[in-house]
Amino acid sequence: MLYYFQMKFLLKKYYIFIIVAVLFCAGFAAAAVKQHIRAGNLKENAFSAQEQDRQIEEFQAKYEQKLTAKDESQIQASSIAKDENPPYRRIYFKPGGIPVLMYHYVGSLPPNADAIRKDLTVSAENFSAQMDYLAQSGYRTITTARLYNYLSGKSNLPPKPIVITLDDGHADAFKNAVPILLAHHMVASFAVVSGFVGTSDYATWQQISRAQSEGMEIINHSFNHMNFADPRFTLQYKQDAIAKCVSALQGELGDNTKTFVYPYGSYGTDIENLLKADGFDMAFTTNFGEAYKGDNLFELPRIRVHGLETLERFRETLGDYGNSKLASR
Ligand SMILES: [Zn+2]
Repeated sequence: MLYYFQMKFLLKKYYIFIIVAVLFCAGFAAAAVKQHIRAGNLKENAFSAQEQDRQIEEFQAKYEQKLTAKDESQIQASSIAKDENPPYRRIYFKPGGIPVLMYHYVGSLPPNADAIRKDLTVSAENFSAQMDYLAQSGYRTITTARLYNYLSGKSNLPPKPIVITLDDGHADAFKNAVPILLAHHMVASFAVVSGFVGTSDYATWQQISRAQSEGMEIINHSFNHMNFADPRFTLQYKQDAIAKCVSALQGELGDNTKTFVYPYGSYGTDIENLLKADGFDMAFTTNFGEAYKGDNLFELPRIRVHGLETLERFRETLGDYGNSKLASR
């Protein structure tokens, strides 16, 4: 009898030991897995100056789309995510300014689109309504090349000129915006990232070439949408990112654009000097404003068209209030 109780006691002790051992092993395994994941992440994010090219290109290719949306939006008011249709801004432009509109996606939203994607996406219906408004209000679309000729004093422009830019070369912008523009006898300037052409969600060279033959302007937005303000990049790397896009546009389209659009809107003296040395005429940021004669042609601002903004807000952002124009041009 005593022996039985002794055994039961020992077994009980044994079970406790097993439970403790299992818990210990599980805890250890969990910690090991966590450590492994952390090490993996650290490895992925580790950029050393020596191997920056390969790693950064990999990184860019993998995360570009997300970074594009995030970083470009952050340059605008951080309230975008909260405020999907920001209140009207009473903007009084000085006379003589030329609006340069900035779009990204033109089409429908993917499922589960976040606030940033929504902000970057103008539906085809809204884009069409905006072009209707511009046409009815007497705006005339011009290319960035014509804008340059005007700003540098080489030629004049028709009354109420406006530039339309579409960044990044998204497939939906070519598919949806080009027919709408053509129906309105309008031109727009598509800033393409040569390294992304033909990859998922981006237009193919065939689509871009067709748009070009239909009168659309194709402009340089770098080879890999790198952030030129990122200190991890060498000057040589930046130069290559511009040059690769130059030769791709030249080779695929015979295009010799002299217009650059800064990825993420990031600019600085070094990149401006590189562009000038490469023969570029002008470059656009994501700063808000109109283009004026006398501006630094390598820091030209634009007017972002927000995804969910109403037509009323679109008009007000252009300085058009009711039937009168408070900001005369
Ligand atoms: Zn971009």
